Order: sequence, then C-alpha cells, then structure tokens
Amino acid sequence: MQLVGNGRLITHNPEVPYLDKGCVAFEGNAIADFGKTSDLVERYPGSSFYNARGRVIMPGLTNAHTHIYSAFARGFNLPQKKPNKTFLQILENVWWRLDKVLDTDDSLYSAYATGIECIRNGVTTIFDHHASQFHIPGSLMAIEKALSNLGLRACLCYETTDRDGSEKTDEAIAENISYIDHAASSSMFRGMLGMHASFTLSQETIEKCVDAMGDRDAGFHIHCAEGPEDQADCLEKHGKRVLERLRDSGVLGRKTIAVHNIHASDTEISILKDTNTMAVHNPESNMGNAVGCARVLDMVSSGVTLGLGTDAYASDMFESLKVANLIHKHELKDPGVAFSESVGMLFKGNTEICSRFFPNPIGVIAKGASADVIVVDYTPHTPMDETNCYGHIMFGISGKCVDTVFIGGSCVMKDRVLITVDEDGILSRSREQAADFWKRVVG
Ligand SMILES: [Zn+2]
Repeated sequence: MQLVGNGRLITHNPEVPYLDKGCVAFEGNAIADFGKTSDLVERYPGSSFYNARGRVIMPGLTNAHTHIYSAFARGFNLPQKKPNKTFLQILENVWWRLDKVLDTDDSLYSAYATGIECIRNGVTTIFDHHASQFHIPGSLMAIEKALSNLGLRACLCYETTDRDGSEKTDEAIAENISYIDHAASSSMFRGMLGMHASFTLSQETIEKCVDAMGDRDAGFHIHCAEGPEDQADCLEKHGKRVLERLRDSGVLGRKTIAVHNIHASDTEISILKDTNTMAVHNPESNMGNAVGCARVLDMVSSGVTLGLGTDAYASDMFESLKVANLIHKHELKDPGVAFSESVGMLFKGNTEICSRFFPNPIGVIAKGASADVIVVDYTPHTPMDETNCYGHIMFGISGKCVDTVFIGGSCVMKDRVLITVDEDGILSRSREQAADFWKRVVG
C-alpha cells in the first residue's frame, strides 16, 4: 500500500470534500482508502509513506482538449504569408503550414515535450487532437509511445479533414479506427474519431466517418463554431447550423466532444443537452484567436456536460481555470459570475468526461477511483477548509506549484524530478528535432 499523507487533502468528493492532515491510500492503480493520516498509518502498517509536509494533496487534473502537434510552434518566428487578422488566416498562416511538415519523429518529441509539461503542471489525463497531414499512419502510436513512457493517461484521435485531398482523408479515418481498436482494452489509453470542423468536412466525409465508426463504443472529437466562418460556411453549403448538421449526420452523442461552441445558438445549446454531447471550453485559446466568448453560463444552466481544456495554449489547467473565471466576468460585465461554473468545468465536467471513457473514476479522491494524486506546494496564509478550498485553488495555486505526481498509482514526478524518463536528455533531443522541423517548414 502507498500512502500520501500529512497534507491538506482536497478530494472533490462531496461526501468528504476536505481534510486537514489528510491521507490517500492506494494499491495498484486504484485508491483503496482516504482519511486522517493518523488513522490510515495505523490501519495500513508497513505501507510506503510519502510525507506531503502540510502541502496540498488533490486529484490529478484533466485537460479535456489539447493539440500535441503544436508543441514545436513555441518560439518559432514563422515568416508570415498573410496578416493574422482572422481565425481562418491564423489556421492558414500557422497551423495548416506546420501540420503538413510534421513527421513521425516530430510527433513523438512533441508528445514527450507536451507530456512533460502536463506532468509538471499536475495534469494526469489529456484528450488530444492530433494532425500531421503527410505522416498520418502510425502518428497516434508514436504519441502513445511517448506518453506511455512518461506514465500519462490519454484519449487520442487524429484530425480528419478534406483540406489535403481524399487520400489524406481516408488515411486519417483509418488511423483513428486503427487506434480506437488498439486502445479499447488499455487501462491508460482510449481512442476517439477526430474531425477538424464542419467547414473543412464534406458531407461525404462525415458520412464516411460515421460509417467507419460503426458500432464501436467511441465518439467523435470535433471543433464546433469556433470562428464565425464555421457557421457561415455551414449555413451556406448545408442550410443549417453546425450542431444541427452534426446531429443530423449522427455525429453527436454521449461519447462525442464538441469543442468551443462559441457561436452556438440557443437551439444548438439545446442540441448539445438533448444529445448528451460533451462540450469543452478553452478560454485562453478563444481570447488569443479573438474568436469570441463561449456561452458557458448558458451551457451550464441548460445542463450541458461542459469541461475545460487549453487547446494547447498552455498545459496548466490552473491557469485555464483562472482565465475562465475572468473572461466571462469581463464579457458579461458582471463580477459576480463564472466562479462556480469555472470550478465546475475543471473539477466536475472533466471528471464526467473521463468517466465516459475510462473504467475507474478520474479526478476524485474516492475508493475505487484511479490513483491519480498530486502534491502541491501551497501553504495558505488564511484559514482553509471545505467551504473555501476552491478560492485557495483559484487565487493561490498555479501549475508550477505542483511538486509530486502519481498516475495510476505510479509516481511519475517526485519533488519536481521526473521519475520515468531522463527529462534533460529528452528535452535536448526535442530542441534538436524542433530546430530541424523549423528548417523544414521554412524550406
Ligand atoms: Zn483545438
């Protein structure tokens, strides 16, 4: 038995939300018990004990939408062909240039680099949406290899799109299906069928995706109404709005993730709710791309399952939480909104999303839940208890405070040192790979 104790334990478990001098006990990959440290030490003699020394103990975090493939964009002074004035220009100038050049080694080291950042920020599960348009087959297995070596849990998919021709479309669908089948029996990985967005997918391609999925127990992962272009294109070509088109095409449902939904109408929000589709909000990315502010409060009040991601803008979910709390106050000119919705997206919505894919509960301290536990270097200077621990998280904790990370019962980072890999060696190799990638992009 492994004990992680002597800390301020935040559980996200409504039965016992908070414990001073709390302790979590796990055996194998699941939590066996939790409670007061003194009780658990007595109950499980001879256990291995990690002493949190008064720091915060809490469940690992989930990033419900990110893009490993964008890792090598960091610091890249990419020569611009056009101004970045619209979201479509950002796609054309940046992301659709980079994803044409990424090869399998680029994907591998992008996954190592992103995975290391996730662990360092206390993120223990990610939902990734990958694109490497001219090296599609095997790209998801390369990503799995890196994340598996790091010890991270993930749900992966490949971004199906028509923008590089039908051969690439077919390769993308095949890559998704092959990976869904491969990961179905894994405890640490799952697959989904990735699709880029309505405006880069013909009706024929959407039908191919739905046919390829067949009766597999996996859903689709697709960007929805991120920029105004997506809605305008859908109305012009198909005479309906994006979420209406996806519903009518059989894409939505309890295993499907609809990302963004910024320009969703009341009817489309009802469609998300009625089809039990999961939505994911990415506040930093939305602000960075200047695409608008998602109707998070309306989605929450309508009962939509809503999680929080970063869209690869960062790997720090505490940062995403803070920005979510701010963007809606600012947008609605109401300082009294969005705190509980932001906390709910990260700590309830993401837990619900994980529960639709993985066998054990994730993101909660409870018996039988996945033993994903982080220790955070935070000592409050005001009283902390079950009534205000989310205020301490919101205003006191950032990803850089995370000291120690257990995923599925295995320690992957201890006192800020990665256990599973040679971090310096991998990051050095990643920098070489990225420099070579930059040369290939510029040509
Ligand atoms: Zn995205």
